[in-house]
Amino acid sequence: MSVDVPDTKFLVPVKGVEKSIKLDDRAKSELQAIGMMDDKGKLKLKGVSPKMLKKMKLEAVDCPVFEKELGFVQCYVCSNFHSRIMGKVYCKGEPLS
Ligand code: SF4
Repeated sequence: MSVDVPDTKFLVPVKGVEKSIKLDDRAKSELQAIGMMDDKGKLKLKGVSPKMLKKMKLEAVDCPVFEKELGFVQCYVCSNFHSRIMGKVYCKGEPLS
């Protein structure tokens, strides 16, 4: 879905999934680089409680940029992530490789 919000190209609904979707290697190295994941692969997201993180792991988006289903944690830390309002991600939609 396209939207008319500045800086936002897509409005992507967040959906629930039964099994958490693993972070891919790209996301892991980005998270480690910005200090949001330790060497053991444990996430340390600023401002996100363990309870919230658990919930986020069981959420996903059908990402219009990568054209695949991604876990919400990965979306949340993506450089295109603008905000999440009422169960929808405001995604900047910049091409990412
Ligand atoms: S913020 Fe990133 S992961 Fe989330 S929908 Fe946009 S491009 Fe995909």
